[in-house]
Amino acid sequence: MSNPCIICVAITGSLPQKSDNPAVPVSIEEQVESTQAAHEAGASIVHAHVRNPDGTPSSDPERFARLLEGLRKHCPEILVQFSTGGRSGAGHERGGMLRLKPDMASLSVGSNNFPTRVYENPPQLVDWLAAEMDAHGVRPEIEAFDLSHILMAHRMWQDGRLRDRPYVQFVMGVQNAMPADREVFDYYVRTMHRLFGTDAPWCAAGIGRHQIKLNDWAIRAGGHVRTGLEDNVRLDRHTLAPSNAALVAKAATLCQRYERPVATPYQTRAILGLHQPVVA
Ligand SMILES: [Zn+2]
Repeated sequence: MSNPCIICVAITGSLPQKSDNPAVPVSIEEQVESTQAAHEAGASIVHAHVRNPDGTPSSDPERFARLLEGLRKHCPEILVQFSTGGRSGAGHERGGMLRLKPDMASLSVGSNNFPTRVYENPPQLVDWLAAEMDAHGVRPEIEAFDLSHILMAHRMWQDGRLRDRPYVQFVMGVQNAMPADREVFDYYVRTMHRLFGTDAPWCAAGIGRHQIKLNDWAIRAGGHVRTGLEDNVRLDRHTLAPSNAALVAKAATLCQRYERPVATPYQTRAILGLHQPVVA
């Protein structure tokens, strides 16, 4: 049975700089160009942050609006997912761009440690972000940095704070948070099946050198994947990734190995229960 695999490309993030890898797209123009190439390589979702001209993270809705406009113009099919992560702003600033109605947005539902600080997601802010997404018709992607976040997503779905069955992404390999541990990964998958049904779509992301490993585990286990320079700037131990597209191509090769077609944007919308765009 064909089970298409969604490839999400996290093009920029808030941390990697051009000094880490010159291919990291920072300006809106670079981000649009990088997305186009990644889309051609197989990505059907782009996960995006925006930056200030000096490379520092920004949460300016105006920048997000320009990015969305560029993506809709040059890459109209791809699903756009904005980050509401905590590195680019504080409090309600983190959701200021949701009114632009991207297709999706990332939603963290609990707190955990990051390499040098606490990743704070207080309950009131989580509820506010979820409500904003709901109000603007934005499909949340739940970022599970920990097992408790999967259970929290379930609770929020049960009590109606999340309208649709949650699409959960396991994030593994963040320093000081959940490591890329195979037993835990398998338990995450079982927990998804138990709480949300065996047909519930889920996705996984590995940070740094764990990226390709998590791609492999997820594709093999029937899940979906995230790749991109936000999480990992290397193609392998010795080589910098020349582009986001190169990392997407690597994930696409794994799909081939496990006989899973790479999901088109149309299939991605169907898998996630999103409306198909109206063709003019
Ligand atoms: Zn991100």
